[in-house]
Amino acid sequence: MIPSIDLAKQYDPIREEVEKAILACAQKNHYCLGPEVEDFERAFATFCGATHAIGVNSGTSALHLCLEAAGIGPGDEVITAPYTFVASVAAIEYTGAKPVFADIDPITYTIDPKKVENAITSRTKAILPVHLYGLPADMDPLLDIAQRNDLFVIEDAAQAHGAVYNDKKAGTLGHLAAFSFYPTKNLGAFGDAGAVVTNDDALAEKVRLMRVWGSRKKYFHELKGFNYRMDGIQGAVLNVKLRYLAEWNERRMKHAAFYHEGLRDLGLQLPATPKGRQHVYHIYMIPVEKRDRIQKLMLDEGVEATVFYPLPVHLQNAYQNLGYQEGDFPISEDIAKKALCLPMYPELDESQTRAVVHALRQALS
Ligand SMILES: *Cc1c(COP(=O)(O)O)cnc(C)c1O
Repeated sequence: MIPSIDLAKQYDPIREEVEKAILACAQKNHYCLGPEVEDFERAFATFCGATHAIGVNSGTSALHLCLEAAGIGPGDEVITAPYTFVASVAAIEYTGAKPVFADIDPITYTIDPKKVENAITSRTKAILPVHLYGLPADMDPLLDIAQRNDLFVIEDAAQAHGAVYNDKKAGTLGHLAAFSFYPTKNLGAFGDAGAVVTNDDALAEKVRLMRVWGSRKKYFHELKGFNYRMDGIQGAVLNVKLRYLAEWNERRMKHAAFYHEGLRDLGLQLPATPKGRQHVYHIYMIPVEKRDRIQKLMLDEGVEATVFYPLPVHLQNAYQNLGYQEGDFPISEDIAKKALCLPMYPELDESQTRAVVHALRQALS
C-alpha cells in the first residue's frame, strides 16, 4: 500500500537530531516560548526573507492574530475563498467580522482577483488569499485592488512554506501572513504550532503582545490578548526540521514533475504553475470525473489517493449563517466534486511514484 502521507518516513532519518533537541529543551525546563522559540523565529524569518516571524500555537491562531493586529472586528467584512480549509473562514468569524466569499480561478484554485473586486463593499477591510496546495495566489492584482481600496492583505500561507511569487517568498507578499506547522504541513512540528510573518514593525509588535495576553510586563495588559504561545519543544523541533525544508520542497517538486510526465497524455488538468510562481506541492491535486470511483479503483491498485475538501465552506452546515447556497460559487463546487489528491511527501521513492502513475492510468482506462 502506498499511503497518502507517511510521517514515520520523515521522522526516521532525523530522529536522533530531533530527540536530542527535545531532550535539551526538557532538561532546561523551557515550556512556553523561550530561547528555542526565539531561535526558530529568527531562522524562519530569514528563510522567508521577512523582518519578523512570531511563533504561536497553531496556524488558526496565527490567522486570528493577523486579523486582530489589522484591527478587524464586528461590522467589518473580509474576502476569502470558499474552497479552502475551514480555518481560513473560522478565523475571520473569531474577530466578529463577516467572511465574504469570492470564487476561485479554475486553473490555479486560488482566489480570482476579478471576483474579489466584485465582492468589495464599504465594509470590506481585508482580503485573505489562501496559497492553496502550495501555489501562491495571484498577488499582484490582489495587492493592486487592496491599495486602491485601502485594504489589508493577509496571506493564508499554511500550505505554502517556501513557495515563491515574483522572487518573493510566500509570507512576504501581503501585510501579514499566517503559517501552520501542523505535522502534515511542508514544515511540521511535534504537534500543533504556527507563526505570523510580517515586514511591518508596528504590526509585529501588536502580534507579539496579543499572543500572550497583550502583556509586555507580567500582569499589566496594554491590549486585549490571547493565550497563543508556542511551546518550547515545538521551537526546538522546528529548528531542526527547518534545515531540511528547502531539500524536502525540492523533492516534492521532483515528484510533481514525475507525475506530470507520467500523466500528461491523458487530457487531465494537471497542477499549473503560472510564470513567476514556484509551487511547493503541499498537495498534488487533479480534478477527475467520477472521482469517488477513481479513488476506489486506485485503492484496489494499492494507492491511497485522498480528497481535500469535498464540500466548500459556503455549503457547510456550520456556515449557513452566512446565507450562501448551492450555485453561488460554481467553480469551487465543481472542483470540490472532482478533486483527487495523489500521495505527496518528500520521502516517496521512484518505485512508489511510478506505482501511483500506473494506478491512476489503470483506474482511468
Ligand atoms: C492547516 C491550515 C490552516 C490551519 O492551521 P492549523 O495549524 O491546523 O490551525 C489554515 N489554513 C489552511 C489553508 C490550512 O491548510
